[in-house]
Amino acid sequence: MKRIILSIILILSQSAIYAVEKLENVGIAKYAVLETINDNVPLRQKDNENAKRITHLFKDTVLFADKQNKNYYRVELKENNYVWVNKKFVEVQAIIPEKRFDNIKKIEFKDKKKNYNIEIKTDSNSAFVLKENGNNLDFTLFDNRYDPIETKILNKPENFIVKETIENEFDLKFLNNSPLFGYDIEKTKKGYLINIKKAPKINSKKPLKNITIVIDPGHGGDEFGARAFNLDEKTINLQISKRLKKEFKKRGAKTYLTRKKDKKIDLYKRIDFAKEKNADILLSIHQNSLANPKDIDKKHGVGTYYYNNQSKFLAQKIQENLLNQTKFKDDKVNYASFALTRPTNQISVLIECGYLIRKEEADKLKDKKFQKIISKAITKGCEDYLKESFLTKNNSL
Ligand SMILES: [Zn+2]
Repeated sequence: MKRIILSIILILSQSAIYAVEKLENVGIAKYAVLETINDNVPLRQKDNENAKRITHLFKDTVLFADKQNKNYYRVELKENNYVWVNKKFVEVQAIIPEKRFDNIKKIEFKDKKKNYNIEIKTDSNSAFVLKENGNNLDFTLFDNRYDPIETKILNKPENFIVKETIENEFDLKFLNNSPLFGYDIEKTKKGYLINIKKAPKINSKKPLKNITIVIDPGHGGDEFGARAFNLDEKTINLQISKRLKKEFKKRGAKTYLTRKKDKKIDLYKRIDFAKEKNADILLSIHQNSLANPKDIDKKHGVGTYYYNNQSKFLAQKIQENLLNQTKFKDDKVNYASFALTRPTNQISVLIECGYLIRKEEADKLKDKKFQKIISKAITKGCEDYLKESFLTKNNSL
């Protein structure tokens, strides 16, 4: 009797939490139904804060957990495919004996001038992964099926592949013949909307013409960043960013600053600003320091950071030009998960121009002429990236 009641009735929050604690022992309930309570919830490869992020989910996404430990639930995306979510981001809604899945109702493609829009209509708020695969982009929506009879597909361009559903997941592939230039996914009332930017048309003499650049001077207000030799990182960041804006403007780019004054701005507001401006490139400008000053002779010089593969080549080109022009030590192109390197909407890179805590670098970083050298090197890096990525015979103006 108990078995039947537990299977049928959706248990409300408090008792569901108790039930999920017993998840493995009871042997009746199989899955805890979780719902995310925020946007931007990371699913991780392992059960800790430092584990690799697999995807970020929207608020109200439904997940199925089959296990837990202290702070994390283990989520089954599909058979033998598990990820972890921190308990603080989800609420337990119910305990159910089996996972449920939906058929996708409609997939509609819109081939626009500068981008592709793909609307995926489904009734369920399921977990998804949108990930780069070389120049291609792969989208998987879990607990959803593409049903050849029930799912309508409208205006599919040839460079998209809708894979036949074998397990309870929906797979869409974007085949791209040039490097990726930004993409994102939004939650809509009816499902999901994927936006993929097309390769830009590049003017060979003025590669930055009509390219939109958002420059983000790091820190501001009571967030000073690194401090040394009477210098504040936030001030140097703003000075370099303003010079950088001038250089970009000269070359025909549309350029915006996330802050023009010494003001504190939330990291996510900076990201939203770049999205609002429909940026092609987002550059976050910083000066470095060290947690442990003992390392001062090991780590110094200029370093450039990226997170998404589509941003790696720009990071390399900026680093190359900065090394040439500044003659600073090579602090490398680094893969790093920062709030300002993670956005996929545009090519996103963070630059540590030098180490403010190192006297000879600080002396240069505060100098107007040197700031101009840095700005020119970064602009040149962007030009090289655009030309080498997108300037082909049939794609020039
Ligand atoms: Zn900084």
